[in-house]
Amino acid sequence: MKVIRDLREMQAIAERFRLDGKKIAFVPTMGALHEGHLGLLRKAHKWGDVVILSIFLNPIQFSDPEDLKTYPKPLRRDLHYAQGHHVDVVFCPTAKQIYPEGFSTYVVEENLSKVLCGQSRPGHFRGVTTVVAKLFNLVKPHVALFGQKDAQQAIVIQRMVKDLSWDIQIEVVPTVRDHEGLAHSSRNALLSAQEREEALCLNEVLFMAKVMISAGERRPARITQKMKKMIMARKGVKIDYVEIVNGETLEKFKILKGKILIAIAVYIDKIRLIDNLIMEVK
Ligand code: AMP
Repeated sequence: MKVIRDLREMQAIAERFRLDGKKIAFVPTMGALHEGHLGLLRKAHKWGDVVILSIFLNPIQFSDPEDLKTYPKPLRRDLHYAQGHHVDVVFCPTAKQIYPEGFSTYVVEENLSKVLCGQSRPGHFRGVTTVVAKLFNLVKPHVALFGQKDAQQAIVIQRMVKDLSWDIQIEVVPTVRDHEGLAHSSRNALLSAQEREEALCLNEVLFMAKVMISAGERRPARITQKMKKMIMARKGVKIDYVEIVNGETLEKFKILKGKILIAIAVYIDKIRLIDNLIMEVK
């Protein structure tokens, strides 16, 4: 396994892979690898001859400096996991290399980025699209894998790739959960045992919404009201948003129909957690 920090070296190796006729599968992450990331790596081997993992804690997608500061950064452990998952190249550039002095060019998706997480984290998706665009130019992937866990992110990236005519296949991989249903997240490491217990309500309310819809409820407000009530019953959990939107356009519904995305964001103390569920409604 090669560990690369230098941008030019990354581009040269990616070019070499391409000249050798290898299909490059790419998994971009911010590190603190967990089962969710490892699921992406396993899938990546199915899509590519070589797997490139990037570990880059992207400062420009954090609107809260405290969140960036406390984000876990266990690089040695990450490299160990990567090796165990037969990653060919780990690309871990520094922020100075990615954003050199005078950096002033950004990639901005102007529609889908404005709702849900985009509303509570201004500038977040601009940071995401900009770094993913840069990483695509450095890693030159044929296929890039993203998690359903960050559903809006995956939708925004798919839009960006289409809008900018990138010849890159985007694969979205289902959310990996622990045995109690909590979606794996790097931020889970920051939760105390009590907070972790409270975080289980995310999956619980998603399940309740699913049951309501399966029983015939089609009024989104009825469902989100119940979900909010259930979350608010948990001491220490603060709602950022609970929404049901179109699973492609992210627009709100009057009556649910077609592909829907039930999305939640909460704060447990200062730790922001998100989760979601996608359903097809007849
Ligand atoms: P992050 O390091 O949080 O930026 O995540 C890197 C990639 O892993 C993103 O595409 C995430 O959507 C994906 N990911 C994070 N958690 C999970 C999970 N529990 N299940 C599946 N994919 C995940």
